[in-house]
Amino acid sequence: MDYNGVWTLGEARDGEIKEVSFELLSRGRKLADKLDEELVSLVIGDGITDQQAEELIKSGADKVLLMNAPALKDFIVENYSNVIEDLIEEYKPEIILAAATTMGRTVMPYIAIKTDAGLTADCTELDIEEDTGNLLQTRPAIGGNILATIKTPNHRPQMATVRPHSTKAAEKDESRTGEIVHLKFDSSLLDGRVKKLGFRKNEEDAVNIQDADVVAAGGKGLKKGENFALIRELAGYFEGAVGASRDAVDRDWISYPYQVGLSGKTVTPKLYFAVGISGAIQHLAGMKTSENIIAINEDPDADIFKVSDFGIVGDLFEIVPELNKQLAEE
Ligand code: FAD
Repeated sequence: MDYNGVWTLGEARDGEIKEVSFELLSRGRKLADKLDEELVSLVIGDGITDQQAEELIKSGADKVLLMNAPALKDFIVENYSNVIEDLIEEYKPEIILAAATTMGRTVMPYIAIKTDAGLTADCTELDIEEDTGNLLQTRPAIGGNILATIKTPNHRPQMATVRPHSTKAAEKDESRTGEIVHLKFDSSLLDGRVKKLGFRKNEEDAVNIQDADVVAAGGKGLKKGENFALIRELAGYFEGAVGASRDAVDRDWISYPYQVGLSGKTVTPKLYFAVGISGAIQHLAGMKTSENIIAINEDPDADIFKVSDFGIVGDLFEIVPELNKQLAEE
């Protein structure tokens, strides 16, 4: 049987479909249109309603494969990968995309091993090669200095994870219609060796840097960890989130969930402050698609000014307190 269709792996937590699922659909839509194939959103979880599935259709899916079962409420990779492998065997999708989130990064390698497929992690661009119909999977490589385009021409499904927030979800089209398929859960696919003992929210959940409209980020120019107080105050005036360069994280001034860049998070806020950050290519990879960028740096030649909409050359220890003072008075 031929492989057919573009699948995106939806993510749900506590019965809510996560935003990345909608972002993936805008990636998948483009590919499905080029191939003239169906775009399918696969959602595994518990308590996901048809109404929620409809939202995926309005965002571009032609079909939603929905598998609800209490045993699938929590993401346990052994169970999810067994279920997905089984579905791949049955439906034979040509392409499978997942977000490069904890879930996507964990489950996709399992599936790649099980189906003997290739997998390109952390893609920032996806396209279809015109003559062959192969998936072109582009991602930063060699420390972010080049963009490599990878293909797996001799195997189906073709699989990739996509950087969350590297694209926006499509506007919902209320008039779109599609099919919702309720999949039957086969409990023999559960891996009895793994049991959930409890759930503890980690710090990352509290930060929510990728959903913030405003991110104020600090770098090595802050000189020491305590000076992040200036950045926290600045972010606070906008009810925004704090971000950081890797140098600041490596120095233990702030923890890893706040890191923006190639090996951290990708953010696309309405406003991004880069304070004492030089603008290394690996940092830019995580923030250059922000709508507005304000850079504060004492070096007029800093690369961050090349991507900023508004730049202030000067000592951050003079500029940021003054800015905070003005914002406090507003
Ligand atoms: P610096 O480059 O040292 O810049 C500090 C800046 O502060 C300078 O421009 C300086 O002019 C300015 N400054 C100093 N004092 C003041 C002052 N008083 N007032 C105003 N400005 C001042 N980096 C990331 O950020 N995120 C990543 O995800 C990431 N991933 C990486 C992955 C790989 C594989 C590699 C090789 C590197 C990665 N890096 C990443 C590291 C990256 O190359 C840079 O080293 C890092 O971004 C530099 O951080 P910085 O801008 O804070 O420090």
